[in-house]
Amino acid sequence: MNILILGSGGREHALAWAVLQNPKCDRLIVAPGNAGIAMIADCADLDVTDPEAVVGFAVEESIDFVIIGPEAPLAAGVADALDAAGILAFGPSAAAARLEASKSFTKEICDACAAPTAGWARFADAAAARDYVSAQGAPIVVKADGLAAGKGVVVAETVEEAHAAIDDMFGGAFGAAGAEVVIEEFMTGEEASFFVLSDGENVLPIGTAQDHKRIGEGDTGPNTGGMGAYSPAPVLTDAVAEAALERIVKPTVAEMARRGTPFRGVLYAGLMIEGGEPRLVEYNVRFGDPECQALMMRLGGQALDLMLACAEGRLAGMEVSWAQDHAMTIVMAAKGYPGSYAKGSVIGGLDAPPEDSHHMVFHAGTARADGTWRANGGRVLNVTARGATLQEARDRAYAMVEGIDWPEGVFRRDIGWRAL
Ligand code: ATP
Repeated sequence: MNILILGSGGREHALAWAVLQNPKCDRLIVAPGNAGIAMIADCADLDVTDPEAVVGFAVEESIDFVIIGPEAPLAAGVADALDAAGILAFGPSAAAARLEASKSFTKEICDACAAPTAGWARFADAAAARDYVSAQGAPIVVKADGLAAGKGVVVAETVEEAHAAIDDMFGGAFGAAGAEVVIEEFMTGEEASFFVLSDGENVLPIGTAQDHKRIGEGDTGPNTGGMGAYSPAPVLTDAVAEAALERIVKPTVAEMARRGTPFRGVLYAGLMIEGGEPRLVEYNVRFGDPECQALMMRLGGQALDLMLACAEGRLAGMEVSWAQDHAMTIVMAAKGYPGSYAKGSVIGGLDAPPEDSHHMVFHAGTARADGTWRANGGRVLNVTARGATLQEARDRAYAMVEGIDWPEGVFRRDIGWRAL
């Protein structure tokens, strides 16, 4: 079959790599893709948030299956448009993508199905929000309701900090995303990610992971898109996963179906786990980046079968066949990220690392010119390895990092510290 993947990051490189291992894939196009993806698949320039443009392109290229990587095209209704055009797609409708696009919507769903999550309140004006915070005290969490690329959340240590965050959000710091603000109880515990496919009715867990949001070792410094991840996450034991599935994910999927907006795609539940009890922090409606890279390394070609079954409503009875292994991905970023950074520095040694079912360098932001690889973004490379143990996966991944000659690149040396 002819397959189109939408997106341009390390996540999409990993999805492309996995899909290409499945003999069902005859032809793969990634739009817009990146220079690393271009080494393994055709890339096409396309505005992936324009539903009509995506449908037009898919028809022109006789695409049978579209895998939607990032949240923006989902929120823009690309899956709806493909569905209306009779083209099979992996990814939820815009109505179901609200589980990521609106934090208050997710909270309403949790309330409706009694899924454990932080206590919350929603505000449309600053004065009422400030009063609420004063009454509740700190620590407390202030969130812009809409999509803010991971930056619209302030975990405030003091009431003053929370007040400042409220003023910022209503002052327009996040545009329309901050027109409403959600204030949440502060939860303690350890965070982990739980990935579940849903075809609207049936659910199938496809793995767990933990990421590293902060730029600095020991989880210090500013937040990033993610500096590394590993799968599975030891804190998400079978018992915790079962509890999360039964109390959080299944009730959510049932509630979405009951409302006439069934969720089809990958539901990524961000969990806070304390004393063996999971509570929901947030939902994402797509794979995490870089968690996807570690997951794809473990799933390989069956990822395509799973995504197809999900899109076709055939998840009942499907199983994941796991190698009992571990995977880790280490993000190499440009010096200065997540602040300002330079583009264009030369990256050497990229052709040297082994690339096989146990080792891959996924590209997130590179450019290639005159036979030279150059940095072309903040997060640039996702060095990923598999092993029989997490330690082995980690040793292999860091050995690959050592082989990459990029003086302007930075990475964390402590990925996996919680688990090891
Ligand atoms: P991202 O897309 O980057 O994961 P987001 O903007 O969707 O983030 P959340 O995941 O809701 O926002 O929050 C970001 C981070 O803030 C969480 O990963 C968690 O560390 C922290 N956080 C959010 N809500 C709470 C809470 N109620 N209690 C404690 N910490 C929280």
